[in-house]
Amino acid sequence: MRRWSELAERVAATTRTSEKTSLLADYLRTLDADELPIAVVFLTGRAFPEADQRATGIGWATIANAIAQVADVGRADLGAAYDRFSDISAAVGDVLAKAGHAPDEAGAPDLKDVAATFAAIEAASGPARKADLLAGLLARSDPRTARGIVRVLSGELRIGLREGLVEAALAKAFDRPLDAVKRAGMLTGDIGRTAELARTGTLEGAELALFHPLKFMLASPAEDAAEIIQRLGPTVWVEDKYDGIRCQLHREGTTVRLYSRDLHDISAGYPEVIRAAEPLPWAGILDGELLAWRDGTVLPFISLQTRLGRKDPSAELLAEVPVIYVAWDVLGLDQPGPDGAADRDGVVAPTLELPLTERRRLLEGLALPLAEDGGGFALSHLSTAASTDALEDAFAEARARRNEGLMVKDPTSIYSPGRRGYGWLKMKKALATIDCVVVGVEVGHGKRHGVLSDYTFAVRDEGRDQLVTIGKAYSGLTDAEIATMTRWFEEHTISQHGRYRVVEPTVVVEVAFDVILRSNRHKSGFALRFPRIAQLRLDKDAREADTLETVTRLYEGLQSGAEHLVTAGARKAAAR
Ligand code: AMP
Repeated sequence: MRRWSELAERVAATTRTSEKTSLLADYLRTLDADELPIAVVFLTGRAFPEADQRATGIGWATIANAIAQVADVGRADLGAAYDRFSDISAAVGDVLAKAGHAPDEAGAPDLKDVAATFAAIEAASGPARKADLLAGLLARSDPRTARGIVRVLSGELRIGLREGLVEAALAKAFDRPLDAVKRAGMLTGDIGRTAELARTGTLEGAELALFHPLKFMLASPAEDAAEIIQRLGPTVWVEDKYDGIRCQLHREGTTVRLYSRDLHDISAGYPEVIRAAEPLPWAGILDGELLAWRDGTVLPFISLQTRLGRKDPSAELLAEVPVIYVAWDVLGLDQPGPDGAADRDGVVAPTLELPLTERRRLLEGLALPLAEDGGGFALSHLSTAASTDALEDAFAEARARRNEGLMVKDPTSIYSPGRRGYGWLKMKKALATIDCVVVGVEVGHGKRHGVLSDYTFAVRDEGRDQLVTIGKAYSGLTDAEIATMTRWFEEHTISQHGRYRVVEPTVVVEVAFDVILRSNRHKSGFALRFPRIAQLRLDKDAREADTLETVTRLYEGLQSGAEHLVTAGARKAAAR
């Protein structure tokens, strides 16, 4: 583990991508079959593979508790170190070194020990037990190794390592074509498994496995119709943007599973969708949305909220808020053969590399039992548009159907799991909103004086690999949400400075605003005029927050198209 930690630091120390790749490749080549998958999963900032259902459940408080057990370091000392580094792992390394923590090298943990301890931490219940296990591991680790361990645990792998870079390093390390590595990564959705296939020269054998959720394709925000037509046009595919919960459906034989956008199995919460999918004759994977729906009408998201997180919904709740599956994509498919059997035992032929037009044709060919005929499915509403006016009309129609806005897609695009490209653009409001990470909170004023209601938030600067602040807003959340979040932020405070608390950078909020301005007030170099919190996005993690690049693009778009926007915005507002 010490070698991994040193490698991580060396990679962090260079900004040159080619140098990062070479350092990684030289290191990966030296690992054996057991170590390689662990090392690459850790390099992407995760304790477990992404599609794994496990999580350590460790946060700042548990890390601080473990450090206090290992060395004479209080929570305040750790908080002060965080203020200096803005990085939890660097703070841990620093305080342990200063405390003279120097365990015997003979007991130093290797990668397998660390992975086994992470698994034990996951299985342990309660923060105290988790902290004890972590303390046991850190007690055997010198400050550098401890820093590496906390790097992985805090998911804050600030060494500029996106999956793409690890894939490039794997290609170089084992002398395989980069395209083959990327394709295997896309199909397996597991960088550890991909590494193993690259090492053994079996990348072509990568298959699309059922019941292993793939990462979801993401959409970029677009500020107006003109930008969409310019980027994807002239003729674009326009689908309604449903306000439900993103969901990947896997089925084979009589087994059906539903996965949320954070790749968790949520099947138990939606028995009606499972039942609707059980009798279907094909094996495959669909992408779509769970939506509350009754008598031909979409129910508001607030109704669906009563179903969220429920494992075994009561008959009354099922009757009160019925849920259907709106499908818009097919990622893998085995149709029944002449003998009627579709099964190939857990794998299906991938369809995600086909253009969207072709995937839609396959989807429509599945003849899903539609909700309007008493079935449990719908297909996303699809039309085409070739002008900004047509797009704005479609937007108004989607709103009239009680949907959030539009999802505009390039009909030639392939399905890119986990990528936020420009193949899909979302058009939601008069202006775009951006997803930001809350980095600081303050107690409010007036009736909000006892609660943490003022949020400072940041976007991701991928170039410098850090979070950069862009604004501050009084929370537009409900009193109940503010109360819940206040408790959460109190428990996840890293350091306190008068009224202001630096908090664990993990909560994502969707921020609406009027205009983006250049400004030195915030680290991003931008400020938002009239920022307001549109909603909490507890379904997203910090890695999914918008980037400085997106903000810059929106700013430039606003500069060049400001006048058009005002008109477009006003028209859309009137349409609502
Ligand atoms: P957002 O959550 O605001 O970043 O918008 C992206 C989300 O819109 C996706 O994750 C889906 O859950 C949702 N969505 C709704 N309708 C569609 C659609 N027709 N195509 C793709 N995504 C959609």
